[in-house]
Amino acid sequence: MGKPTGFLEFTRELPKKRDVTARLHDYKEIEQPFSEADSQKQAARCMDCGTPFCHSGCPLGNIIPEFNDAVYEQNWEYAWEILSSTNNFPEFTGRICPAPCESACVLGINKPPVAIEFVEKSIAEVAFAKGYVKSVPPMKRTGKTVAVVGSGPAGLAAAAQLNKAGHMVTVFERADQIGGLLRYGIPDFKLEKWTIDRRLAVMEAEGITFRTGVNVGVDIKAKDLLADFNLVMLTGGSTVPRDLPIPGRELTGVYPAMEFLSQQNKRVAGRSVTIDHRGVPYYNGELLATDKNVVVIGGGDTGSDCVGTSNRHGAASVTQIELMPMPPKERADSTPWPHWPMMLRTSTSHEEGCERHWSINTKAFIGDENGKLKALRLVDLEWKSENGRMQMVEKPGTERDVPCELALLAAGFLHPQHEGLLTDLNLERDERGNVKTHNYQTVSNPNVFAAGDMRRGQSLVVWAISEGREAARAADQYLMGESMLEAKAVSMLATA
Ligand SMILES: Cc1cc2nc3c(=O)[nH]c(=O)nc-3n(C[C@H](O)[C@H](O)[C@H](O)COP(=O)(O)OP(=O)(O)OC[C@H]3O[C@@H](n4cnc5c(N)ncnc54)[C@H](O)[C@@H]3O)c2cc1C
Ligand code: SF4
Repeated sequence: MGKPTGFLEFTRELPKKRDVTARLHDYKEIEQPFSEADSQKQAARCMDCGTPFCHSGCPLGNIIPEFNDAVYEQNWEYAWEILSSTNNFPEFTGRICPAPCESACVLGINKPPVAIEFVEKSIAEVAFAKGYVKSVPPMKRTGKTVAVVGSGPAGLAAAAQLNKAGHMVTVFERADQIGGLLRYGIPDFKLEKWTIDRRLAVMEAEGITFRTGVNVGVDIKAKDLLADFNLVMLTGGSTVPRDLPIPGRELTGVYPAMEFLSQQNKRVAGRSVTIDHRGVPYYNGELLATDKNVVVIGGGDTGSDCVGTSNRHGAASVTQIELMPMPPKERADSTPWPHWPMMLRTSTSHEEGCERHWSINTKAFIGDENGKLKALRLVDLEWKSENGRMQMVEKPGTERDVPCELALLAAGFLHPQHEGLLTDLNLERDERGNVKTHNYQTVSNPNVFAAGDMRRGQSLVVWAISEGREAARAADQYLMGESMLEAKAVSMLATA
């Protein structure tokens, strides 16, 4: 433990955010730079608990008290060694993880928790700046080949680990750039894309091959992939959005959130926004929120990203609506410490300006004579508990039309795309439509493994990395009979 009185002396402080008016004019990261001294102070708040619940709260089993101590001692190289032993990409999680470790931090029982995510980002950035992040190609190759299909955080983590084990790894991606939702989902103001390019340079130097613009199951048939590689690792994500099939859905002005978000990321990258990231023309053309009344339907992270993007486009108004009731402002009694708390979350995008409403149902999209969206028909809901199940009931007399020229559907994702890759491989799926596995090995074909959102369902980047690592270890064991890759410490809390 670096400083026994640190948690008494220092308060939790995060890097300052850029001024709202300034940041609405660009897509740059919101946080301002920080100093090594700032990180040291925050790391000093760690109490080095006998039972570090933070460690159990992290899906990766990050060894948090140890790296906090190393940062307090200003031994950044050692901090990097500890952090990178459990997390392949702390430069991503240090920026965009909702930090379940902080919800589990013991200090959080009666004080603000240790700023673990900030310390993690600091370690990663200092490590890149000081040259501690090096490409380390494996000493020996095994002669085995692995195809990883999909280049999101799960695919990248699996590729990094399988390459480390000595296998020759090729990553296939149908989009025009590597990164999955890191690249074409999460906006630049949360994660600037040079962070992905910087990491890819390290991975390429370690011997991993990346092939973009290849839709496996369409451009390459599964039988060819299975013939050419010893093992196939599927990490294609959960890409089928939940639709809202109500009257007026076909109107111009009603679009899935991902179409809107991925176009913006392409625009920031200076790429064409007339064809999508798979090379297919955008069915709905270029989508802009400028001067429009925007309603985002869905209260989660994707919805919040649509809010931030719409404000940057210069929307006339931005409203986010949610079917479920407003969560409590503090931790709900049903999710006491150290569990991931059910509570109201306000993102940096919400802070930039947005009306938020809960317990609202959308009954219809209303169009003008040209088939263009002009309003949403909404109704307030009351949620009643009947036989232990929540039932929604419309509040009489609350139905109304609100002006809206752009409605973005952000109600989550159902499961991976079935046609193409999964049908071509003839894989069994679970009851939710995800790839069915036993210890990451598909139940249909022993040479095919799966990880990330494609196996687990829509989740988080930290879980995708954890899945990629665990699946790589299972695959390595299958190929070699045993695996030298690190096993994850058993996580008691990380189930969300
Ligand atoms: C808008 C948005 C914002 C989010 N924000 C956050 C956040 O702030 N923090 C957080 O922790 N999580 C966030 N998430 C969730 C997180 O991004 C995902 O859980 C994570 O990216 C899943 O990783 P993955 O590798 O399993 O899949 P993905 O990232 O979805 O990557 C899958 C890749 O596989 C490719 N692919 C699919 N099929 C094929 C095929 N047949 N051939 C070749 N390639 C194929 C796809 O093109 C894609 O690039 C967000 C999600 C969205 C949609
Ligand atoms: S639970 Fe919090 S205070 Fe305890 S070791 Fe982890 S980060 Fe430090």
